[in-house]
Amino acid sequence: MAITTSPSTTSKGALGHGLDGYGIDNVRALPHYTPTPADITISNRLPNDKKKILFKNVNVFDSTGADIYPGDVLIENEHIQKVGKFEFTPDADTLVIDGHGKKTLMSGLIDAHTHLSWNDSPTLDGLTSLPIEEHVLHTARSARTYLDCGYTMCFGAASAQPRLDLVIKQAIKTGMIPGPRTLSSCQEITTTGGAIIPSISKMADGADAMRQAVREFISLGIDNIKLSMTGDYVHETMGAEETYYTLNETRAAVEEAHGRGKRVCAHARSAASVRLCALTGVDVIYHASFADDETMDMLEELKDRIFVAPAINFPLESCNGGAIPFGLTPDMAAKRGLVREVDVACKAMKEMHKRGIRVLPGGDYGFAWAPHGTYARDLAHFVDLFGYTPKESLLAATALGGEMMGYPDVLGRVQPGYYADVILVDGNPLEDITVFQETSNLHTIVINGHVHKNVTIG
Ligand SMILES: [Zn+2]
Repeated sequence: MAITTSPSTTSKGALGHGLDGYGIDNVRALPHYTPTPADITISNRLPNDKKKILFKNVNVFDSTGADIYPGDVLIENEHIQKVGKFEFTPDADTLVIDGHGKKTLMSGLIDAHTHLSWNDSPTLDGLTSLPIEEHVLHTARSARTYLDCGYTMCFGAASAQPRLDLVIKQAIKTGMIPGPRTLSSCQEITTTGGAIIPSISKMADGADAMRQAVREFISLGIDNIKLSMTGDYVHETMGAEETYYTLNETRAAVEEAHGRGKRVCAHARSAASVRLCALTGVDVIYHASFADDETMDMLEELKDRIFVAPAINFPLESCNGGAIPFGLTPDMAAKRGLVREVDVACKAMKEMHKRGIRVLPGGDYGFAWAPHGTYARDLAHFVDLFGYTPKESLLAATALGGEMMGYPDVLGRVQPGYYADVILVDGNPLEDITVFQETSNLHTIVINGHVHKNVTIG
């Protein structure tokens, strides 16, 4: 699976990091790559679960791009059977849920950048201050919290300890604990001196060490490899525009992961780091705040194979006073560069939206000022900050989620044959995109045909 090795002559910029001379021709020459589908099955149905669920008199947001329409939805075992107008007489083995024409049935949501093992710590290093036993419990609790908030898809973007994501994914898979369908991740891989949080990172310098780190993590059984390629202005000294990977290191990590059918996601804030991702075929680019024009052209060229997730809520909360109780004032945030980054990132996301690059919500929940349970703020950010319509925001949170998880034909839509991962929401989310921020507005949550939550209408 060779990745282009020689510079082309089209590049205008000089970003360092071995990038000189590499341009859009190198991106065009990237070999086609499709990851091996990860295991997303769950066995959570209980013996006394009804075989069928009929949602009647609901408004359906089916995530095909269609407007919301009135209808019924029939679920049988793990899958959606029928959607729209159809004849069906419920039998004793059918649970009937009536939306009275006032509730919206839609796919469960995705968090495109999930840290199940982040423990709502008030400090960066606090993520690993727990003994492993307590940490497992925290991780299990966040998996449940995601589902309680209507999230049925989580794309793992690093785990605080090597096996936390894996163990929790397995527990969800076997029905031991409730949680979303998950792609698991290990720790972040970074280079010496390049770890924003050393305790959750694995160091690797040079191509051979990268290959070894990726091989070790894959041997544990994870789905995603996470590279931490830049600093972050939330850190006191490691700025977001510093880049800690070379082209050779990035290429080695991606080649190794892709050789095994895995996905690579990367913490990449600087222009150079996003360029490295584009040149090597990193599948999921996180943040991408400082992508310059030439890099943006490369991302557009790759728009059918890459995903971007800005995870804007965390820096935003750091700027607007949310982190004051934890020692980060808006003034400090501005001095460190966070305010500027949020501004630049919003412009970049608007540009990506215009160019049809797939941008997904979610990210970096699990710190004290962006705690678990507040995930749905992202849906409003897409509308308020990136110029998305509410419908586009919901499509990014559902249908694009199915694509990112690698299952566009069974995840992220309310259509016959799709997994029965659906939520019944009060009112019309297209009129109020903040509706998901209160779990009391989530009337029913079904995953894999199993009712996780259902509030009886009085
Ligand atoms: Zn993150």
